[in-house]
Amino acid sequence: MIFRKIKGVHIPGRKEMSITNEILTFTNPEHVYVPLVEQGVPATCLVKVGDKVKLGQVIAEKGGRFPIPMHAPVSGEVVSINQKMWHASGRMVETVVIKNDFQETKHESIKPNNTDALTREQIIEIVKNCGIVGLGGSCFPTYVKYQTTLPIDVVIINAAECEPYITADYMLIKTRVNELIGGIKFIMRATNAPKAVIAIKKTKEELIEILNNHLANEENISVFLLPDVYPAGWEKYIVQKVCKKTYRGLPSEAGAVVNNVGTAIAIYHAVTNNMPLIEKVVTFTGDGFNNPQNVYVKIGTDIREVLAKIGGYNNEVTEANLIAGGPMTGKAVAFDSLVVHRSLGSVIVQSRKIRLVNPECMGCGKCCDICPVRLSPILIKRTLEDKDYELLADFKANNCMECGLCSYVCPSRIELTDAVVRAKTALATRK
Ligand code: SF4
Ligand code: SF4
Repeated sequence: MIFRKIKGVHIPGRKEMSITNEILTFTNPEHVYVPLVEQGVPATCLVKVGDKVKLGQVIAEKGGRFPIPMHAPVSGEVVSINQKMWHASGRMVETVVIKNDFQETKHESIKPNNTDALTREQIIEIVKNCGIVGLGGSCFPTYVKYQTTLPIDVVIINAAECEPYITADYMLIKTRVNELIGGIKFIMRATNAPKAVIAIKKTKEELIEILNNHLANEENISVFLLPDVYPAGWEKYIVQKVCKKTYRGLPSEAGAVVNNVGTAIAIYHAVTNNMPLIEKVVTFTGDGFNNPQNVYVKIGTDIREVLAKIGGYNNEVTEANLIAGGPMTGKAVAFDSLVVHRSLGSVIVQSRKIRLVNPECMGCGKCCDICPVRLSPILIKRTLEDKDYELLADFKANNCMECGLCSYVCPSRIELTDAVVRAKTALATRK
């Protein structure tokens, strides 16, 4: 199995520019634009133009197999339900636009819980009702992970944050470690897991010290050190490291539930106060900003409003890429009228002289995982380069359906589809 071969590679982190002593808070934008789509799944709008909404009120419901609500990030008036805005997917999406009344009038559902009395089922229901999704980029509804009937041996908090530039989780651990530990305890209750580990790269010494200090009296929560490689934050990689097991579908097959740092903190606020997911930390970084830093923002904030708060663009950088997301997995977008959605972790503006991709295969296995006909595109590419046509036939390159998925998912942007199609042609012409 290709997964066993994953070693990962070290790549420069470039994180220092956005590590500061605190997270800037900007939670009062003029308008919020809540996207009516998430991970390609449309959401049903539950409000209409002219409605007055309260902070935390459900305004839309994402459908599909795992439905989950979306909430108003501010109180105010709905002024549009179909305004198109740029999204980190690189496409324009329809949004619900709320004009902020700056009153922060909370919905009645936001109130403290008697957390000691909550059952496992009640915690899972709260996590669902509060719209908690994976904040590491997946946006996968978190409650689904907890509904497993499989025994969970360990909760793994993914604190690897292995993509270069991004430091949102770094800053959360540095400034909100008590909320993180509180969230972990709720996740352990939601999964009946007897222990939890915080999996973090061994090079993040400042954070490891903070965590060890705060975990000194926690018998069942510990720090697990990961190597400083990419993609150390890939869920399968972490589960293999912690549990010494692999899985096909969800980590629960290996006895694990994995959440990232931001998600655990969101769960802390959901379970203690029924606070829905309406804010998140986004890293604004790169040499194209005057003051790279992490900012607490409302979901739906137009990033142009944030830029004004962090000192704007660096005029000395005349040619730059704006990346929504990380440099390995994000998308270059043409305009900065981009809205923050639940899975956006960073906005990078970087001068074009810096490489944004790694030209080498990192052995992440994504191209093999995604191939609908179970080929190994990277092995086919290498075998083609070696001109070993017998092996190419063994690798069944001729089964390629040319869907392009392998090139699409490759974090190194290797032209895999092109190579596999050339291998097909080579096999066909040699018959
Ligand atoms: S293009 Fe071919 S090799 Fe690549 S994912 Fe699609 S079927 Fe697989
Ligand atoms: S070719 Fe790309 S997707 Fe495939 S294993 Fe290498 S880095 Fe991953």
